Amino acid sequence: MMDDPYARERAQMVRRQLKARGIGDPRVLEAFRKVRRHLFVPEDYRELAYTDQPLAIGYDQTISQPYIVAFMTEALSVDKSDKVLEVGTGSGYQAAILGELCRAVYSVEIIEALADSARRRLSKLDYDNVYVRTGDGYQGWPEHAPYDAIVVTCSPTHVPSPLKAQLAEGGRMIIPVGERYAQELVTLRKKGGELVETSILPVRFVPLVDEKGKRY
Ligand code: SAH
Repeated sequence: MMDDPYARERAQMVRRQLKARGIGDPRVLEAFRKVRRHLFVPEDYRELAYTDQPLAIGYDQTISQPYIVAFMTEALSVDKSDKVLEVGTGSGYQAAILGELCRAVYSVEIIEALADSARRRLSKLDYDNVYVRTGDGYQGWPEHAPYDAIVVTCSPTHVPSPLKAQLAEGGRMIIPVGERYAQELVTLRKKGGELVETSILPVRFVPLVDEKGKRY
């Protein structure tokens, strides 16, 4: 993009933080080259948008480190025919990345102000295949189930059973599960109605909470 002052930094982020660390799917890399991450962070942090770290987005929440977003996206192995559920819209950045790669993205955010600003931002950027709803994502979004892929960007102590139920046969889920300050990124695949689980990476995410702020 000619008028994008961050195009160079973004290309560098893709090379140094993603490719160099093993993100190899060319479609995933292209989505990260395209989506303007600086438009998903608070204005005061624009200069930091392409650095190798999570950033605060208000309400005690964060936009994840680019590598983690890329790692989770690649692990979902989605394509243009897929319908995806995200729990934890936050800034809308992960949803935008998925919007580039999938047919439809349904994203649930429990903090209304974050859901509203993400929805506005995504619509301004013409993501007409990304839908944001305020609510408790522990319950998923049953109206649009089943999903070919589910990504959870906040952390519960266990895999929510409504999400297991809303995963399509052959579908993939990636979710950080564990204690408050030590979690594992877990992938699950539904095969013959059963969930096959693999732990892949130690991580730290904000907690998945209910409407009273209590952690699941
Ligand atoms: N995917 C986001 C990162 C968001 S951080 C991005 O790309 O910016 C995790 C988000 O999960 C926070 O915004 C938090 O409010 C939200 N969250 C926590 N518990 C939730 C729940 N039960 N349902 C939906 N969202 C929840």
